[in-house]
Amino acid sequence: MQYAVGIDIGGTKTAIGLVDANGQALAKTTLPTNPSSPSHMVDEIAAAANKLMEDSGVSASELLGIGIGAPGPLDTKRGIIAEPPNLRSWWGFPVVDSFRRHFDSHVKLAFENDATAAALAERWIGAAKNADHYVYMTISTGIGAGIFSHGRLITGATGNAGDIGHIVIDPAAGLCQCGQRGCFEYIASGTAIARMASELLGRPVTTKEAFELALSGSNAAAEELVRRVFRYIGVGCVTMINTFDPELIVIGGGVSQVGAPLFDTVTDYIRHHALNPSGRETAVVPAALSQDVGLIGAAALIHIAYK
Ligand SMILES: [Zn+2]
Repeated sequence: MQYAVGIDIGGTKTAIGLVDANGQALAKTTLPTNPSSPSHMVDEIAAAANKLMEDSGVSASELLGIGIGAPGPLDTKRGIIAEPPNLRSWWGFPVVDSFRRHFDSHVKLAFENDATAAALAERWIGAAKNADHYVYMTISTGIGAGIFSHGRLITGATGNAGDIGHIVIDPAAGLCQCGQRGCFEYIASGTAIARMASELLGRPVTTKEAFELALSGSNAAAEELVRRVFRYIGVGCVTMINTFDPELIVIGGGVSQVGAPLFDTVTDYIRHHALNPSGRETAVVPAALSQDVGLIGAAALIHIAYK
C-alpha cells in the first residue's frame, strides 16, 4: 500500500493526516497554526507527519507524497503562500520548498488552495463521486469554490480559480475587505450572517443563533435576513451554473449544516433563474465529508490528481 500525508493549513489550526489509497485516514492530528513563524510551523508539521507514519508502521518508502492545502490567495506555480488575509506573516512564504527539505527526493509534493482540495475529496470519496462536471462551494467564515470540469480540476494559472467569494452580488451592499462592494462573501458567509444579524438586533449574535431565531419563526426580521442570505447563495449557484454548466453542486462548510432550509431555497432559486433548461435541474447537495475534508483533499492531490 502507498500512503500520502494530507496537510490542511488553516488560519487557526492545521490538520495533518496519513491517508491510504482508498481515502481512509489511518491517523490524524491537529496543531495550532503558528501565525508568526511559518518556517517553524513547517518543522512542526513535518515532525508530526513523521510521527503519524511511525505510529502507524508506515515506512518512508511507502510514502508517495505530501499534499498541502492552504487558504488563498496563493501561487501554486511558485509554491508560495501569497496573501491570505488571516495568515499575514505567511505572505510570500515558500511553503513547498520548505517542506521539500524535510522529505526524501522521491516524495512528491502537491499544493493547491483548500477549496480545490476539498472539491477533490468530495469527488474521491464524498458527495460528487463520478461527477465529471461539478462545483464544490464552501460557505463558512469565507466563501470559496473548487471547480471540476470535463473530468479534471480547474485551478487556473496560479491556483486561484474558484475565488467566488469575491464575485460581486450586490454592489449596493457594504465594502468588502478586497476593496469591492457587495461581494458574495461579504453578504452570505457565516461571518456576514453574524455581522448582519448583530446589526439588526443591536447586540452580538452568532451565525448559529441567527439561524435559530430565523428558523424557529420567533423573529421575523431574522427570518427575512436568513431568507435573503439563502437567496444570495442561490444567486452564487446560478452564476456557477451559467459559467460552468455543472451537473452537480456540492455545498459544504459550517453554513451548509443548517440543512434543508438552505438547500430548498437554493434549489427553488435555481429552478427559476438558471438560464438554460438543463441548468434549472442542477442537483444541489450537502457535502458528505465534514471536518476531515481538508486533509483528505490534500492527500487526494497525491493519490489521484497528480499521479
Ligand atoms: Zn471582496
